[in-house]
Amino acid sequence: MKRIGILTSGGDAPGMNAAVRAVARKALDSGLEVFGINYGYAGLVAGDIFQMTSATVADKINRGGTFLYSARYPEFAQVEGQLKGIEQLEKFGIEALVVIGGDGSYHGALRLTEHGYNAIGLPGTIDNDVPYTDFTIGFDSACRTAIDAIDKIRDTASSHQRVFIVNVMGRNCGDIAMWAGVASGADAIVIPERDYDMQEIADNLKQGLANGKSHGIVVLAEGVMSAEKFKDELLKYGDFDARANTLGHMMRGGSPTTQDRVLATKLGVHAVELLLDGKGGLAVGIENNKITSHSMLELFEEKHHGDMSLYDMNKVLAK
Ligand code: ADP
Repeated sequence: MKRIGILTSGGDAPGMNAAVRAVARKALDSGLEVFGINYGYAGLVAGDIFQMTSATVADKINRGGTFLYSARYPEFAQVEGQLKGIEQLEKFGIEALVVIGGDGSYHGALRLTEHGYNAIGLPGTIDNDVPYTDFTIGFDSACRTAIDAIDKIRDTASSHQRVFIVNVMGRNCGDIAMWAGVASGADAIVIPERDYDMQEIADNLKQGLANGKSHGIVVLAEGVMSAEKFKDELLKYGDFDARANTLGHMMRGGSPTTQDRVLATKLGVHAVELLLDGKGGLAVGIENNKITSHSMLELFEEKHHGDMSLYDMNKVLAK
C-alpha cells in the first residue's frame, strides 16, 4: 500500500480536523502518500481530491468543523454511486481510506472495503450514538458548549425565578442531555431512552422553587420533542414562568476540547496502523479507556449504550 485517502462525512463535529491531522501525519511518517477527499462521498465521486503534505494539516488541530468539508450523498448507497467513487480511487492510485463520520458513513466505508479498498471508520459526531465506543469525536466539545450556554441561561433564570426548558442536540441519543444535564446541575433531564412523568417533573420544579431555589432548568434531548411543545405540556401541570430555548447548531461549532483532540489523535493514529496491517471494514473506538476496533458488520447489529447511571444519579441530586 502506497497511497491512502481521508474523508469526513455526515454531520461535522469539533475534533474532526484533529483526526484528519493525526491520520495524515502518521501515514506520512509511515512512508505513505496521503490524499484529502473534499465533501465526503460526493467529493470522492466528483474527483475532488488533492495530495496532502504535513503542512496541509498544520494549524488545524484547534479548529472546529471540518476543513475537508462534509456533504450528504445518498447515491453512495447504490452500487452505481460506489463504482463512480472507485473509478476516482483508481485514477488517483488510492488503495485504502480512513472515513470519519457516523454510522451512515460507515456503511459507505464497508461497501468500499467489500469492493477491495480497505476502509477504516472513526466515530466523528457530536451525538455519541455510535456503538462500541464510549465517546465519539465531538461529543465532549458539544457538551462543553451546552454547559456554557446553560450556565448563562441559569443566570437569567435566577434573576427572574424562571423555569427554562433547554433543548440540546443528539438526534435520538440522550447522551448530550445526560452529560450536560448532570454537569450543569439540571432539575430534570428528559431523554428518549427513558419515559418521563410530567407531573413528577412539575412537582419537583415547584418543590425546588418553594425550597428557595431561584430557578429551574430542564435539559431536554431533541429526540424527545421541541422545547416549546415541552413547555406547553409542563404548563398544564403548574403555573410556572417558563421559557423555551433551543441550542441547535451552535453545539456543532467551536474549538475542540482537550478530550476531543486527544481522542481524535489516538483514534487517527490507530486507524493508520490498522491499514498498514492490511485491515479494512473496521470501526475504531475507545472502550474503558482502551483503543479498540470492531468489524462494521458487528457494529451495525449493536446499539450504543449510554451511561444511564448519570440519569438515575441526577434524579437524586436534583431533589
Ligand atoms: P452519519 O455518517 O453522520 O451517520 P449520514 O447517515 O448522513 O451521516 O451518512 C453520511 C453519508 O454516508 C451519506 O450521505 C452517504 O453518502 C453515505 N451513506 C449513508 N448510508 C449509506 C449506505 N447504506 N451505503 C453506502 N453509503 C452510505
